[in-house]
Amino acid sequence: MDVTLNYIRMQLTCLECKNDVDLSSYSDLEKDQVIECNTCGITLMVTNIENTMVTAEVVDEGK
Ligand SMILES: [Zn+2]
Repeated sequence: MDVTLNYIRMQLTCLECKNDVDLSSYSDLEKDQVIECNTCGITLMVTNIENTMVTAEVVDEGK
């Protein structure tokens, strides 16, 4: 188990408003997790996590 990952500050830039999303409330961030931008409120789904770089896509809530 690699517990050191829990102490790395993950980084994600919101696709909508281009602000940094506050990921501090998501301690166990993982792929396919749905998160919310704290700036514009858009819903994002994590598509990839590579080291501290988080990639996400916009979730279309109108589906
Ligand atoms: Zn945003």
